Amino acid sequence: IEQAAYQNDKLAMLGKISASIAHEIRNPLTAIRGFIQLLRPHLLQLGKDEYARIILSEIDRANDIIYEFLNSSKPTAPQKVVVSIASLLKEAVLLSESEALMKGCEIRLKESATPMNVSIDVKQVKQVLLNMIKNAMDAIEEVGSDYSGVIDISAEPDGKYVNITIQDNGNGMDKAMLGRLFDPFFTTKEKGTGLGLSVSYRIIKNHRGNINVDSVKGSGTIFVISLPLVP
Ligand code: ADP
Repeated sequence: IEQAAYQNDKLAMLGKISASIAHEIRNPLTAIRGFIQLLRPHLLQLGKDEYARIILSEIDRANDIIYEFLNSSKPTAPQKVVVSIASLLKEAVLLSESEALMKGCEIRLKESATPMNVSIDVKQVKQVLLNMIKNAMDAIEEVGSDYSGVIDISAEPDGKYVNITIQDNGNGMDKAMLGRLFDPFFTTKEKGTGLGLSVSYRIIKNHRGNINVDSVKGSGTIFVISLPLVP
């Protein structure tokens, strides 16, 4: 209980700090966005509208990141729509493919014979999938640069649920690490936040689902996300 209270304190503090930083960064971004828009006709005349477009989309991306970070420190109610599991997984794989290519990992998506639908906040659940695929790629990278890493993704029905499996042959984890996996700020990475899995866990719980994990140090990890199916 003490541990949980400590985590809540840390999360509450993170919430306060991130809210004020986000606010302070958003104001200058809004000003930059406004002035670029004023400059846009001039850039167009110079044949440089592409630059304006990039600046605007990168500002929007920075805003999105701030927004996500703010969201990660306070739970939000999912905005649910019905989507097919097949399209959701395809999209997540597509978005991960360029990074996988750079890191020399192969992502294999196995299509299920059963069409399945879930009612989910697409943005939130996609964030969970992308985070797990990214973790799998990082785990593979840890093994070595000439290692042929494979990430297997599949989805199968299990009663009223779908089990989405993300399996990698990366460096794996021992029991002690598995026990701390979902703790906020638990990370073994130099540039990690340790927020990915704690946020993922909350998102899936908010969808009345569950996350299970098993891992063997030195051989790989398997994550199973269960979500209620739309009948
Ligand atoms: P971050 O990726 O920022 O470290 P996460 O909460 O997503 O934060 O992950 C926490 C830690 O769990 C990682 O630093 C890593 O040590 C471990 N981990 C997560 N996924 C895997 C995996 N697929 N294989 C091995 N270790 C993993």
